[in-house]
Amino acid sequence: MKLIDGKMVAETIKEQLKKEVIELIDKDINPHLVAILVGDDGASQTYVASKQKACQEVGILSTLYTFNSDVSEEELLNTIKFLNEDDEIHGMIVQLPLPKHINIEKVMASIAPEKDVDGFHAMNVGRMALGLPSYLPATPNGIMELIKHYKIETEGKHCVVIGRSHIVGLPMSIMMGQKNYPGNSTVTLCHSKTPDLKSVAASADILIVAIGQPEFVKADMVKEGAVVIDVGIHRIPDETKKSGFRLVGDVDFNEVSQKCSFITPVPGGVGPMTIVSLMMNTVKAASGVVY
Ligand code: NAD
Repeated sequence: MKLIDGKMVAETIKEQLKKEVIELIDKDINPHLVAILVGDDGASQTYVASKQKACQEVGILSTLYTFNSDVSEEELLNTIKFLNEDDEIHGMIVQLPLPKHINIEKVMASIAPEKDVDGFHAMNVGRMALGLPSYLPATPNGIMELIKHYKIETEGKHCVVIGRSHIVGLPMSIMMGQKNYPGNSTVTLCHSKTPDLKSVAASADILIVAIGQPEFVKADMVKEGAVVIDVGIHRIPDETKKSGFRLVGDVDFNEVSQKCSFITPVPGGVGPMTIVSLMMNTVKAASGVVY
């Protein structure tokens, strides 16, 4: 079994991005990402802070717009409109979740597709599905980068994706089925209504799990020699740790790692790739290579 080291791959990509950013700055283009954060959710604050830190590491300018949780939808939409029109801003992300009184679809649709570096706008999702240049959603794109780095064969393989969220499972299934490398796989997309999930999962050559259920995938759901990509991340209580918790994925690592050929650990697998993908998209946005 080989561990897929997301931390190492993310660092390698960051080094490459640093060089690309310097080249852009030489051409008087300063890549600039704006993050919009609404409310005081601790997890969202942490995610945004790590995105800003990554920007700093690769030389991308980052600006944070914060709003109280009672901000009106109109004020948020006006801010996005203003940022859409600012030529010095290349990428924009709105940290989710948003308060209930704000219509997420409306907010996402208001971001100019050419600045939508999260790849959530319907235009980018549609272009991705058609195989046209687009901003690929961060987590699935990070997984594609891991597959490339480890030269994992995907053509003609059976790829089973468990979970159909708009940010991970659904785009992942589309990307793995495309006429490309990584891709050209025969894809099965499973979800909470899939009967006999165990045997479908056990028929996978490549199993990608994004369901949000701690250690759900056990060894009997995995084929001998399969490649296993674990997107899940959960804190579970652990009295043996100083922090009082440990991090686990959607896959039971101890059991499954005995059986597979490659596996992503949690932490240090998919997680570090998600933020680096956002950096890749921001550099693409500044370079103007997508739109
Ligand atoms: P989500 O909750 O939006 O979607 C979960 C999907 O899994 C749904 O489509 C649901 O139908 C399916 N599902 C749930 N239980 C199932 C079951 N028992 N059997 C089959 N299907 C089931 O999840 P998400 O946003 O895709 O996130 C999934 C996990 O990945 C979470 O743990 C999340 O924290 C983590 N995540 C990690 C990263 C990262 O960078 N590492 C990024 C995004 C999400």
